[in-house]
Amino acid sequence: MKDKLVRLEGTKSLAEKFKRLCVKGVYNRNLNHPQGRLVRVLFSNTLRVIHNRELTDVSGRLLSYSSFCLPGTTKCFVTSAGDFFPCEKVAGIERLRIGDVRSGFDVERIIGLLEEVTQIRNEFCSACWAFRLCRACFYHFYGPSGFDKERMSYFCNGIRKETKSSLKLYCSILEENEEALDFLALP
Ligand code: SF4
Ligand code: SF4
Repeated sequence: MKDKLVRLEGTKSLAEKFKRLCVKGVYNRNLNHPQGRLVRVLFSNTLRVIHNRELTDVSGRLLSYSSFCLPGTTKCFVTSAGDFFPCEKVAGIERLRIGDVRSGFDVERIIGLLEEVTQIRNEFCSACWAFRLCRACFYHFYGPSGFDKERMSYFCNGIRKETKSSLKLYCSILEENEEALDFLALP
């Protein structure tokens, strides 16, 4: 328990340091400022997703698999038996086998998987406040026997908690300096 509290305190003070440097405009002037490299690496990725989020009304729109990789294009993990999986994190999950060295990629299976996750997203994510910022993927949705609702729910709690903290940090920085996070804008 004490260890956990110390870890939480550590994260809080790192977030404070990141905030201080952002508010002073340090990263806008020099992204690789030597005093702030570690905290920039720790917090930039999640805040970048928030900063570049789509600002259109998405209510009523079907949710796509947008946070997922396109299996076989981003990465491909090849097992010693010659089977293909989207990556090392999901290797061995039969439902996610996307081909093998003998017959190549199974395009129908890949399309089927994308349709499957689109359905899952629409069923479970459409009422979730975090869906626009969520980066869950096959790894969070699938266990050894395929789609696993309990596994997903376990990760969802963590994702929502992390998203909430990131939103708090994001807003608290912009409250002090509206231009502080300009360095996160995608070209
Ligand atoms: S971690 Fe998820 S998104 Fe990334 S390659 Fe693996 S399955 Fe795809
Ligand atoms: S947190 Fe869970 S329910 Fe919410 S969008 Fe992400 S995967 Fe879907």
